[in-house]
Amino acid sequence: MSQSTFIVAKFGGTSVADFDAMSRSADIVLSHPDVKLVVLSASASITNILVELASGQETARRAFLLDEVRRIQYAIVDNLRSAEVVRDEIDRILESITTLSEAASLATSLALTDELVSHGELMSTLLFTELIREREVAVKWFDVRKVMRTSDRFGSAEPELKTVGELATHYLAPLLNDNLVITQGFIGSEEKGRTTTLGRGGSDYTAALLGEALHAGRIDIWTDVTGIFSTDPRVVPTAKRIAEISFEEAAEMATFGAKVLHPATLLPAVRNNIPVFVGSSKAPNDGGTFVYPETNEKPLFRALTLRRRQTLLTLHSLKMLHARGFLAEVFAVLARHHISVDLITTSEVSIALTLDTTDTSGQARGLLTQALLTELSALCRVEVEEDLSLVALIGNQLSQSPGVGKEVFGVLSPFNLRLICYGASEHNLCFLLPSKDAEAAVQTLHRHLFE
Ligand code: ADP
Ligand code: ASP
Ligand code: MG
Repeated sequence: MSQSTFIVAKFGGTSVADFDAMSRSADIVLSHPDVKLVVLSASASITNILVELASGQETARRAFLLDEVRRIQYAIVDNLRSAEVVRDEIDRILESITTLSEAASLATSLALTDELVSHGELMSTLLFTELIREREVAVKWFDVRKVMRTSDRFGSAEPELKTVGELATHYLAPLLNDNLVITQGFIGSEEKGRTTTLGRGGSDYTAALLGEALHAGRIDIWTDVTGIFSTDPRVVPTAKRIAEISFEEAAEMATFGAKVLHPATLLPAVRNNIPVFVGSSKAPNDGGTFVYPETNEKPLFRALTLRRRQTLLTLHSLKMLHARGFLAEVFAVLARHHISVDLITTSEVSIALTLDTTDTSGQARGLLTQALLTELSALCRVEVEEDLSLVALIGNQLSQSPGVGKEVFGVLSPFNLRLICYGASEHNLCFLLPSKDAEAAVQTLHRHLFE
């Protein structure tokens, strides 16, 4: 399968932000004849606006946000040759956004949010398809919801792999023989046909899932950075690009907040040994990072990641003292409420854990529903802390190498670390600290470990 030369190329929001960005992305697609399938995000900032509309806005704010969406997309339409035809299609989508936004101002729901935000990817793919058509290339727009079957967990739906494979083979594969196909990242549909989303940043995941379903030979992620760096270059401008990185390391980076890849992106790649390339659509000739099953080099320290807006839940119970089954009870409650636990440490009488918060509505608080807190409070005393950030050091054999603790925590002595996890994985060491200190901690660590 991995001998296949067929490439799935994904372009993120900044790569389809405006007409110039879309044109650059089109150049990239057309200069890579093996790219048969293109997966797109919504134009930059569109998803944020749609999420805000979906949270229910009063009339004036709604009008302002709708104008913003119209302005961003019309600016692209205006540059197309068949502007009038495309404008009609965009207008129909804008009308639907208007109706759904009005509905959201009366009552919000996760299903409505997904339906509303899906319009971002529908618009960007329509515009991009038209732009490619103008280059006289056989191109087809494809509604990914026909094949991306997911659970009905709106906001962070899970793909149903077997069905996605079957549907993609049936509906999508035949189109690739004679056309370049343009489709949406991030969105899917559940059994009854209602629109779902894979969580913020989910387009990377879509590209990998379709790559898996169609046996791609490579997945290219085109974004606004020239690859995966030793840390977020926005936080540390001197961060260094990584030329080659292993699946395991890259997966850890994505899981722990390196936004350049959605956390689940590497799963389909790992299952099928499909290499992933990450590069910048602004500088396609500057190279990028290759993610391979294995790399020759396995540095002790590979990268630092930062994940903001973490919620720490501390559960205190004397029942835990010399008792059995308390942890099982707590996890059963969390599982019933679909809470995915991220980090955990326990003591004799308490558990501290952080929650995963990558769903489309993006509200960490939203996960901690009153029903969940009530159920937990029946078991133990519950404390909730916010404004925390998670920093992870990613590397190899971290837990088997002497001196790592001293090297890392020595440097971090000025900071108040709220929780530390070390030892469960040989690939990471991570800690939680107040958000106001997080960037400084990453900068300090980067200077000492990577420069
Ligand atoms: P896209 O819209 O193309 O999906 P994202 O904004 O989701 O782009 O991801 C790209 C961003 O990821 C970069 O602009 C960068 O700030 C951030 N980022 C975080 N960690 C890293 C890292 N280790 N290497 C590269 N970029 C990173
Ligand atoms: N447009 C979606 C988002 O902004 C998906 C993506 O960009 O990957 O989260
Ligand atoms: Mg992204």
